[in-house]
Amino acid sequence: MKKLFLSCILVVLLGFLCGCEFSSNSKKVIFTTNFPCYDFVRAVVGQDSTFEVKMLLSPGEEVHDYEPTPKDIVDISKSSIFFYVGGESDEWVRKMMENGDFSQVKVLKMVDMVSTLEEEHVEGMEMEEESGIDEHVWTSLTNAKIILSKLVEEISLLDPEHQEMYQKNALDYISKIEELDASFQEIVQNAKRKELIFADRFPFLYFVRDYDLEYYAAFPGCSSQTEASAKTVQFLIDKVKNDSVPVIFHLELSSSKIAEAISKETGAKVLEFHSAHNVSLDEFQQGITYVDLMKRNESVLKEALNS
Ligand SMILES: [Zn+2]
Repeated sequence: MKKLFLSCILVVLLGFLCGCEFSSNSKKVIFTTNFPCYDFVRAVVGQDSTFEVKMLLSPGEEVHDYEPTPKDIVDISKSSIFFYVGGESDEWVRKMMENGDFSQVKVLKMVDMVSTLEEEHVEGMEMEEESGIDEHVWTSLTNAKIILSKLVEEISLLDPEHQEMYQKNALDYISKIEELDASFQEIVQNAKRKELIFADRFPFLYFVRDYDLEYYAAFPGCSSQTEASAKTVQFLIDKVKNDSVPVIFHLELSSSKIAEAISKETGAKVLEFHSAHNVSLDEFQQGITYVDLMKRNESVLKEALNS
């Protein structure tokens, strides 16, 4: 009797343990590197899907410093889809692929989904030795729509049963992006000036090309530099003064030190323009989206171009 009782407990306990195992394993995992990759996949798969979406970068972490842990690499090799940007900042992916077996994983690269531009060096910018394609393709809302459509195709191939749902999810998100795009176009059409000044890195080449805006910045898009030379700072101060630019921008999760210095000399207002590379822990837990971040840019863009 005692034996029977014990084995009953054992069966219940095992059942419970297996149950837990099953529920966490029943969803297929999609690994993404940075926030745009994460956000676009999340928008397509939605809440009740076959897939669970994970972001490798921790919220608040600097994207360009990221390195995967050995556990990350094992987890990626067991996932269904791995979606990364494919630029300078995730060079580690190439090494990881060469040294492991990822034959079971569908590997998707954001920069292959759209047309890319070469990284640009405008007048006054601190020079970088290396330069290649500009990886920040997601800062163009037009590109964001294309990426979402491609993701629907790829994800549906792995889960054709839910294709309609994925299509609907993406279309809902795309319509929000189109609304924003129209609003950006209207702001630019009615603008007093078409010039933006960034006292920071400049990952918005695709964004400014969409709206025919001019820009000056301290560093190129993925630069690891944070100290601007006196010459660069003076160039930006002169630009702000000569062109009566009312706003000077810095990026999210970045020091506004250079912007503050220029503001002190010129009286221009310091504001943040969000590149969506990553979000803070708070924002992440609140479920903030790419569209939310771009909406913030809408109001600061208006102020920079119209006041
Ligand atoms: Zn970057």
